[in-house]
Amino acid sequence: MRGGHPWVFAQSVREQNRPGQTGELAVIFDRKDKFLAVGLFDPDSPIRVRILHAGKPQTIDSSFWERRFAEALRRREVVIDSRTTGYRCLNGESDGWPGLVLDRYGDTRVVKIYTAAWLPRLSELAPLLAGEDRLVLRMSRNIQDFAREEFNASEGDILCGEPLAPSLEFLENGLRFEVDVVRGQKTGFFLDQRENRREVRTLAEGRQVLNLFSYTGGFSVYAAAGGAGSVDSVDISEHALAGARRNFALNAEQPGVARCRHETIQADVFNWLREAPSLRFDLIVLDPPSMARKESERADAIGAYAKLMEATLARLNKDGILVASSCSAHVSSTEFFQLARDAAQKSGRRFVELKTTGHAADHPATFAEAEYLKCIYFRFLE
Ligand code: SAH
Repeated sequence: MRGGHPWVFAQSVREQNRPGQTGELAVIFDRKDKFLAVGLFDPDSPIRVRILHAGKPQTIDSSFWERRFAEALRRREVVIDSRTTGYRCLNGESDGWPGLVLDRYGDTRVVKIYTAAWLPRLSELAPLLAGEDRLVLRMSRNIQDFAREEFNASEGDILCGEPLAPSLEFLENGLRFEVDVVRGQKTGFFLDQRENRREVRTLAEGRQVLNLFSYTGGFSVYAAAGGAGSVDSVDISEHALAGARRNFALNAEQPGVARCRHETIQADVFNWLREAPSLRFDLIVLDPPSMARKESERADAIGAYAKLMEATLARLNKDGILVASSCSAHVSSTEFFQLARDAAQKSGRRFVELKTTGHAADHPATFAEAEYLKCIYFRFLE
C-alpha cells in the first residue's frame, strides 16, 4: 500500500472494528496503529478495500473529489484535440478512482463502475463527472442485481442531462463514429485502441486489409481513410458488423473511405481462418477478446494466441504487415511479445519487427494488474 498498490484483499484484513457497509470509507491502520490509507469498503468483493489515498490522513469530501477529477483531466490535455471528442477521462485505480471509468463521447459521458462501493456515492458525484454533458450509467454484470435491488439503479440510467438520442456520434482523429453507450461492449467503443488505429491509417495505403475481431470497424475505417484498396471486417456479431457498415457510411466524405471496398463477414474467426478460400491480404489487424479471464488460463491463452497468429500469418502476403494486439491482463507484455516473436520465427519467413505499443496517455496503468493492452507490429518481407 505504501508503494502505491490500490487493493486490499479480504484475507489480509487482520481486524475490523465493525462489519462495514458497501461503499463506506474504510480507514486502514498499520500494526502500530498508525494511519496507512483510506479507501472504499466492499464487503461482497475479494478486493475488500480499494484505496483512495495513502500516506498522511486525508479528508474525503467534495473538494477532494474535485481536485482529483481536475488532475485526471489535466493529464488528458496532451492527447486530446478538437479532432478527438471520444476519450477516457478517468481510468480507474490508475487515476485514483478505483473500480470506476469515465469515457466521453461528444456531449455524452459514460460512467462504468466495477464495484458496488460507488453506488451510494453516485448521486453526489454525478454532477462533477458530468460537467456540462449528459451522464449515462453502466455497471459490470456482477453488481447489476444488487444495484437494482438496493439502489434502484439500472444499466443505461441517465444520471444527468437529457435522455439519449437514438444515435450518438463522436470524433476520433477527425473520423466520425457512432456508439451505443447502453448496449455496446465496455462503454460502447474500444477507446483504448485509438493510437493503434491511427498507426494503421498510416500503414494502409494501397493495401488489401483484413480486420479480424473487427467489432464496429474502428480499425477498418482508419485503414480505409488511409487509402486501403479494400477492407474485410470479420466478427461473430452481426450487430457489431452493422455498426461497422454505419461507421463506414458516416465517413463517406473522406476520399479514402469513399474509394475503399468494404466487406463485412459474420463468422467465427477461428473457423473462418481454417475454412475460408485462400484469400490473402497485405495488412492484417488481429485484436481478439481476452483469452485468459483467470490466472489459471494464462498458459492456455498463450498457446491459443500462438495458434491464432500462425493461422493468421497463412493469410498474409509477401511484404505484408501484421498488427497483433492482446488485451489479456493475465498475459504480460513481455510474455505476449515473446510468443508473437516466436510465432513469427516459426513461420520460417523473413520479417522485421516494426514496433511495440502499450497504453495511451488517457488509459494510464500505474500498477501491474492494470496493464492489459499491448500490440506488436511486424512486416513479413517474404
Ligand atoms: N478491434 C476492435 C475491438 C475488438 S473486441 C476495435 O478496435 O474496436 C472483440 C470482438 O471480437 C467483439 O466484437 C466480439 O464480437 C468479437 N468476437 C469474439 N469472439 C469471436 C470469434 N470467435 N470470432 C469472431 N469474432 C469474435
